[in-house]
Amino acid sequence: MALLQISEPGMSAEPHQHKLAIGIDLGTTNSLVATVRSGMSTVLQDPHGHALLPSVVRYMQDDQIIVGHQAESKQNEDPINTIASVKRFMGRSLKDITNRAHIPYRFVSNNESEGVSQGMLQLETRAGLKSPVEISAEILKTLKLRAEKVLGGELTGAVITVPAYFDDAQRQATKDAAQLAGLHVLRLLNEPTAAAVAYGLDNASEGVYVIYDLGGGTFDVSILHLSKGIFEVLATNGDSALGGDDFDHRIYCWILDQILESNQTKHLLNEEDTRLLLTKARQVKEWLTDNYEAQITCKLSNGYAVDVTLSTDEFIELTQNLVNKTLSPMRKAMRDASLDLEDIKGVVMVGGATRMPHVRHAVQEFFEQEPLTNLDPDKVVALGAAIQANVLAGNRSDEDLLLLDVTPLSLGLETMGGLVEKVVPRNSTLPVARAQDFTTFKDGQTAMSIHVLQGERDLVSACRSLAQFELCGIPAMTAGAARIRVTFQVDADGLLSVTAREETKGIEANITVKPSYGLSDDEITNMLKSSFGSAETDKQARALVEAKVDAMSLVSAINIALEQDGHLLSTEEKGPINSAITRLEDLLNNEDNHAIHDATEALNTATEQFAAKRMDVSVSRALAGKNINEVNL
Ligand code: ADP
Ligand code: MG
Repeated sequence: MALLQISEPGMSAEPHQHKLAIGIDLGTTNSLVATVRSGMSTVLQDPHGHALLPSVVRYMQDDQIIVGHQAESKQNEDPINTIASVKRFMGRSLKDITNRAHIPYRFVSNNESEGVSQGMLQLETRAGLKSPVEISAEILKTLKLRAEKVLGGELTGAVITVPAYFDDAQRQATKDAAQLAGLHVLRLLNEPTAAAVAYGLDNASEGVYVIYDLGGGTFDVSILHLSKGIFEVLATNGDSALGGDDFDHRIYCWILDQILESNQTKHLLNEEDTRLLLTKARQVKEWLTDNYEAQITCKLSNGYAVDVTLSTDEFIELTQNLVNKTLSPMRKAMRDASLDLEDIKGVVMVGGATRMPHVRHAVQEFFEQEPLTNLDPDKVVALGAAIQANVLAGNRSDEDLLLLDVTPLSLGLETMGGLVEKVVPRNSTLPVARAQDFTTFKDGQTAMSIHVLQGERDLVSACRSLAQFELCGIPAMTAGAARIRVTFQVDADGLLSVTAREETKGIEANITVKPSYGLSDDEITNMLKSSFGSAETDKQARALVEAKVDAMSLVSAINIALEQDGHLLSTEEKGPINSAITRLEDLLNNEDNHAIHDATEALNTATEQFAAKRMDVSVSRALAGKNINEVNL
C-alpha cells in the first residue's frame, strides 16, 4: 500500500489547478485560437490586435516562414511559395484535386506510382517539397505560440475543429499537423458542433438545430439533434466551391464592366491590377454589410483612375443567385435527415460571409425563423472549441459535455465482381456497430479476403480503400454454405475496427483500420498482419509501462513525504527506505516488469511505519485545540 497522504483540515486534497487548454478553428481562409478565462470563452489576439489569422503560409528565401496577414499580402506576387487554403488539400491525393489548372501551386505526388494507392500530394516550394500537413502545422504553430504568449504558460492540450464531412484521412492529416506543431490534441471536434456549443445550445432544451456556415471559399450546412446534452449530427451537405470569395469575384467583374463601359477601349489588366481590384472588391463587400453605398477609387498600372460607386441594391442583384445556390444543399440535408421546417428549433449562422444581410434574409425566409447571429460568426467555432477543450482538460469535471458524431461516408466490404456492400450507412450516429453475414464463393474455399472500403459508390474502384485482411481456416464446404459474420464497429473518436468470424468453428480475425492516406495497400496489409501476431507483445509492453509508472509515482510521493515529514524518522529508520528507493530507481532502466513490481512492493513495506507516524501527526494536528464534537471525522 502506498503512503497515506493527509491534507490540512478544511483544505481540499488537491488544490484546484486550472489547466491551460485552447480551441483552434483551423479554417480554409482564416484560423483562430480561443480559451476559457474566468469562465468566459475568449478569442486570443496577436500583438497588433488581430484575432483572425489568414490561413496563408509563405516560404521565404532565407528559410524563414511567414504566416498570416503578411503572407496573404504576397499571394499574387509570389504565388508558388505562398500557400493559401491548404485545408482543401489535407489528406488528399493528386487524384482528388480536380480543378488543378486554376490553382497556382506546383503539385507533386509523393508516390509516383499512381493508381496503386492514394499517394499523398505535396507542393513544391523554394523550401523544398511541403505536404499540406506540414503547411497546416505552420498555421497551428503560430496560434500555439500566440496562446502561450498571451496565457503565459504551457498548454495542456487543444481541441481542433474540422468540417463535419471530413473523412478519416482528412481527420488524421489534421491530427498529424497538430502533432507536428507540438500540440496535444484533446479531440477533433466538428465545426458545426463547436458553433452549437458556443451558443450554449447544450444547455437549451431538446431539439434540432441547423448550422449554416458560409466561409471564404466553402459552404457547409449541418443538422444537429440535441437531447440531454448529447449532440448528434443528423446530416451534412454543402458546396465546397462556394463562399465569400465568389461575392468578391462578382464585384470584381462588375468593376471591370464599368471600366470598359466608360473607357470604350479594352484594358488589359496585369496581375497587380487584378490583385488590387480583388482586394478592393472584398473591402466593398464587407463595407456594404453596414453601409448603403461603396465608392471604389484606385489607379491602375497604366494610369487609369477607377472611380465607381456600388449600391447595396446593385450588389444584391449581382450576387442573389450565389445566395440562392446555398438553398439546394439545405433542402438535401433536410431530406437526408427526414425533417420538415417545423422540426427546426433554431438556426445558427457561422462564417464571416453570413454577415451579409441578404444571406441572413435568405436563411430567415427559408427556415421561417430568425437565425441566431449575436455571436461573431467568424469566431463562434473557435469559441465553442475552447469550451470543449476546457471540459476535456478537466477544468469543469462537474458538467461533462458528451458529443456524438456521425460517419461522414458509408463503410462497406468488397463482394464478388468488384462491388461494394455497405455495412454502416453514412450519417450513422457514433459509436455504431453493424454486422452482416457473408458466405464463400467456391466449393471447398478455406480463406476469404476482406477488403474494407469507404464511400457512397457501388464500385470498389470508386471508393476509398481503407484496409484488406484475410480470414483463414474456414472449414471446406460447398459454396454458399459457410456463414461468415463481419462486424464493423466505429468508436466515439471515429476509429473503425472490423471483425470477421466463421460461425461453425468460431475462427476469428479482427483489425483496427487506420486511414490509408500516404500508405500503399501492401503497407496496410503488413500493418494489419503484424497486428494479429503482436497482441501478446503489446500486452507485455503495456505491463512494463504500467509497472514503471506505478514505481515512479510511488518514489515521487515518498520523496515529497520525506521532505515534509522526514524529521519524524531517525537516521536508522531512514536507511532502509533510502536503499529501497535506490534499488527501485536502478531497476527502472530495466525491462523486467516483475522485478520492478517486487521492488515497488518492498518500498511500500519499508515505508509502512513512516506512513503510520505521518497519520498520527496529522490527526493530532487536526485535533489540536478542538473539542472532539467539532471535528468531522
Ligand atoms: P473560413 O471558414 O473559410 O476560414 P471565415 O469564416 O473567416 O472563413 O470567412 C471569411 C469570409 O468572410 C471572407 O470571404 C470575408 O470577406 C467574409 N467576411 C468577413 N467579414 C465580412 C463582412 N463584414 N461582410 C461580408 N463578408 C465578410
Ligand atoms: Mg470556418
